[in-house]
Amino acid sequence: MTQGPSADTRRPLIVALRRGSLEDGPGIRTVVFFKGCPLRCVFCHNPETQEPGPEIAFAEEHCLRCGACVQACPLGAIDLDSPARIDRRRCDRCGLCVEACPGPALRLVGRYWEVGELARLLLRDAPFYRHSGGGVTLSGGEATMYPDYVESLLRLVKPHGIHVALQTAGHFDYPVFASRILPWVDLIYFDVKFIDRSLSIAHLGRPNDLILENLARLLGQTSVEVRPRIPVIPGLTDSRENLTAIVEHLYRLGAPDVQLLPYNPLGLQTYGRLGRPAPDLSAAFPKPDEERRLVETFREIVGRVLNRCAA
Ligand code: SF4
Ligand code: SF4
Repeated sequence: MTQGPSADTRRPLIVALRRGSLEDGPGIRTVVFFKGCPLRCVFCHNPETQEPGPEIAFAEEHCLRCGACVQACPLGAIDLDSPARIDRRRCDRCGLCVEACPGPALRLVGRYWEVGELARLLLRDAPFYRHSGGGVTLSGGEATMYPDYVESLLRLVKPHGIHVALQTAGHFDYPVFASRILPWVDLIYFDVKFIDRSLSIAHLGRPNDLILENLARLLGQTSVEVRPRIPVIPGLTDSRENLTAIVEHLYRLGAPDVQLLPYNPLGLQTYGRLGRPAPDLSAAFPKPDEERRLVETFREIVGRVLNRCAA
């Protein structure tokens, strides 16, 4: 096994392919999760997709303590008695331990797919897409980091009449995006987390100027449907002030609607598997009455903004 590539726009790694998804756009879809993201959201629910390069994930509950990985590692980076198990500063992510492991305890996160190979896999489910009004969804991580690859992929997929959706956090070079990716996309889910610049720097790792500029540009053109979404992160994005600021901003931009993305804590355990500290967030899914309250609050905010702007 060779060391994987990093943020080479022609050779992105794919973390996962989810076939038969009913949650990532209309109809039945195949979702492609790209590895790599320019943001570092402190609440990222899919941390495997943040770094563009390959990573080793270790799941202690599956470990047999057989020691095969220790024998296989040429850099002496694995210690069965160390709580972290892998010394990440020594590990060069060669993947030899993963090959030696007899079970699912070790996993190499991120695989390169030749573009034709991936297109063939996506087209395999074309009859399901057609019958359900579904298609392909590009997700991540951030697919827009890889305009060369994405354009090549969609040039192979789109002529078959496949509906293409893109999930993005919005931090991309607009001219490159507009010329390479936008012509092939039917629907864009655009995540809006903060309007306040300092909150964006604090919680996304970057200012949001480019994100908001790109949102305005996309909502101002008509060739593609754009659906803004607000990821609900308890204690961070769900404050009344933040939700009001987002709704007001979207109203000014003429957004036709906005969706709340429910909080999903399932990714929290992944941080430990990658050898990273987990963010200090609730490990529980919100209770139904909490969700109901949030939706009511959100409706009230939308109503107030509409009334105020119409007055
Ligand atoms: S991936 Fe890292 S821990 Fe595993 S064998 Fe290679 S260097 Fe050792
Ligand atoms: S090879 Fe796999 S099962 Fe064996 S000790 Fe290493 S991680 Fe555990």
